[in-house]
Amino acid sequence: MILLARRLLTLRGLRETVYSRHRALSGPASTDMIRRLPIKKVLCVAEKNDAAKGIAEIMSNGRMRRREGLSKFNKIYEYEYHLFGQNVTVSMTSVSGHLLALEFKAPFQKWHSCNPVMLFDAEVEKYCPDNYVNIKRTLEREVHQCQALVIWTDCDREGENIGFEVIDVCRAVKTSLQVFRARFSEITPNSIRRACETLIEPDINISDAVDVRQELDLRIGASFTRFQTLRLQKIFPTVLADQLISYGSCQFPTLGFVVERFKAIQAFIPETFFKIKVLHHTEDGEVDFSWKRHRLFNHTACLVLYQICMEDPVATVIDVTSKPKSKWRPLPLDTVELEKLASRKLKISAKETMKIAEKLYTQGYISYPRTETNMFPRDLNLTSLVEQQTGDNRWGAFAQGILERGGPTPRNGTKNDQAHPPIHPTKYTSSLQGNEQRLYEFIVRHFLACCSQDAQGHETIVDIDIGQEKFSAHGLMIIARNYLEVYPYDKWNAKVIPVYEPGSRFQPTAIEMVDGETTPPQLLTEADLISLMEKHGIGTDATHADHIETIKSRMYVGLTADQRFLPGELGMGLVEGYDSMGYEMSKPDLRAELEADLKLVSEGKKDKFTVLRHHVEKYKQVFIEAVRKAKKLDEALSAYLGQARELPPQDELQMEGPPVVRKCPQCSRDMVLKKKKDGQGTYLSCVGFPSCRCAVWFPDSVLEVSRDEEVCSTCRPHPVHKLKFKFKRGSLPPLMPLEFVGCIGGCDETLREVLDLKYLRGAGAGAPAANGTSSAGHLRNSQFLNRPRDRPSPAPRPASSKQ
Ligand SMILES: [Zn+2]
Ligand SMILES: [Zn+2]
Repeated sequence: MILLARRLLTLRGLRETVYSRHRALSGPASTDMIRRLPIKKVLCVAEKNDAAKGIAEIMSNGRMRRREGLSKFNKIYEYEYHLFGQNVTVSMTSVSGHLLALEFKAPFQKWHSCNPVMLFDAEVEKYCPDNYVNIKRTLEREVHQCQALVIWTDCDREGENIGFEVIDVCRAVKTSLQVFRARFSEITPNSIRRACETLIEPDINISDAVDVRQELDLRIGASFTRFQTLRLQKIFPTVLADQLISYGSCQFPTLGFVVERFKAIQAFIPETFFKIKVLHHTEDGEVDFSWKRHRLFNHTACLVLYQICMEDPVATVIDVTSKPKSKWRPLPLDTVELEKLASRKLKISAKETMKIAEKLYTQGYISYPRTETNMFPRDLNLTSLVEQQTGDNRWGAFAQGILERGGPTPRNGTKNDQAHPPIHPTKYTSSLQGNEQRLYEFIVRHFLACCSQDAQGHETIVDIDIGQEKFSAHGLMIIARNYLEVYPYDKWNAKVIPVYEPGSRFQPTAIEMVDGETTPPQLLTEADLISLMEKHGIGTDATHADHIETIKSRMYVGLTADQRFLPGELGMGLVEGYDSMGYEMSKPDLRAELEADLKLVSEGKKDKFTVLRHHVEKYKQVFIEAVRKAKKLDEALSAYLGQARELPPQDELQMEGPPVVRKCPQCSRDMVLKKKKDGQGTYLSCVGFPSCRCAVWFPDSVLEVSRDEEVCSTCRPHPVHKLKFKFKRGSLPPLMPLEFVGCIGGCDETLREVLDLKYLRGAGAGAPAANGTSSAGHLRNSQFLNRPRDRPSPAPRPASSKQ
């Protein structure tokens, strides 16, 4: 709660700054305004030390002074720079990715601390992990002497969120701080200078989308992981004794794709087919004519047609067509294409590819590697980028050729994320080694290919007739290889075909009837898997590689010798088990909807808390259902792991958790019946305890109480379950029976009095906020935070008009 309140303050503070800035900019004396703000020292924070160093080198023309921070991995670079129309001192430092992490509050952290279903409502908080505390302290120390903070993290969703973590930490010690965001796609002098001249406001919507994703991943991941691990370790004690059986809402559909393909292969029944083949040997080579019917599955039918052909086995050339054919040069490179092509052509995994690409980017060799854009922006100077490559002894001559033939003419795609250009080289180098060199070379060659010309060829098709059956053969002559000269990753083979005259007849060398078998689809490659994830909206271009890595490291899948994905027994069993419950959890739909909502949050079109509440509730229902049908999981897994152990009924009940009586009138989380610590008596408690202390302590006169299936028709919010009571003799007014079913929702005046139902008073307007202030679960937050934002300006604007 404290953290949240601080965050609110921070945001309010930020908006005020921005507000005054905009007001200033709208007036005539905008530069005056900036001059009036006494900015003398500016703290800059990049996402990694390498990036901080690269940016500092550019801004200072290599004249920066280096100081140590409290974290030995994150240095401080100091230099003078002309910013906000004046000379300022800049301290450039860095974080190491996310500075804060999200975790459940202490009472829910231990595995056996609560029923996993409670993790959908349990309180969460952001905290600074031990290994980042020194980075946080450096920021707190440095920001003291600064009047402004400029966020230089990577310009994508995670980067924006990391930016807000930095802002929160810095604002907490310096509330008057002015905050700006640098937007850039590459660490090159032009790009960095432009970013300094057009500083903008950080985008809270983009950061919010990450917060939502983090919280959902934590709740969904932890609840399912604890549930299935604890249960399956008991059911298969020998096989799974110490195994963590993790669950993630992205990871699972990813596994689902692998299993689905494997099952398609298993279910495949090969069929025999038959076809007629015509061969013609000539002085100019051997020609293979293929049948227009392709193939037949009926042997007799094929045989009849074959016999007709053999009655007069002479071919008549009925048509010869000849037309130009081109092979298209590649589209500008986006992240998904880079991952797929590197995996296919260079045999470098997606994870490794992104790691190397990040490094090449922070060193200034390539533009930002996380992009969905495959069209070049008009203002990008492609000519100078091509020029940079002309000195190379492998592709320099080709680059020179592009310039001599009228300059770059890129082929463009249709995707544009409005944030980053396609991946392209930004600096020439010949000093790289190993896979770094191979990937850089690939990016350069791809870029040059894209900027050149399609390959041109000439295709010839010869159609012939033998006994009314039609056959054809193709030939290809390559006229200009063009982009293929620089792009060895594509193949285009010429195929010689002799000259045939229309109307002429010839005797084929052979006419044969051959048979074959249909073959199953192949197991998925990494490139196939990435394509499927992209198609179905699982993860983002930034996370595909991580999800694939996770299912590998959990041993849910393995790789065959030719690098294809094969599901393991545990992976198979889990997918089959959950699918048999009817929720299709291994199918992509559930997660894809979430991913689409996150996009809307990042665009400011949907509210953070509404989206969070909706998906928490949806996954919670799926979870409750999964626990109820958990036996199906045991059954599916026992096909792979051997006999499933039976659990005693009370263990089953315990796993399901206590049935919900009603929603808490104070925080709207579930209320359940619990046994008192001493085992004597029962009470109704909110699962939000300890942050919500709403509870009904039944008096000693109540001997037994349990939930009835009947639901009260008047009490709200629906449903309020009735309770079955058993009272002590003599404790009730004489005419009341000692055992009855009653409602504690407030509709029953007598019961209200007998039980002294104070908890209801907390509901509605004017309720004492006895526990409200200490409750910070997401539902509670949403009640008072979920109102229209009074932001002054929805669109980011330039923070400073220059000089
Ligand atoms: Zn409550
Ligand atoms: Zn009622």
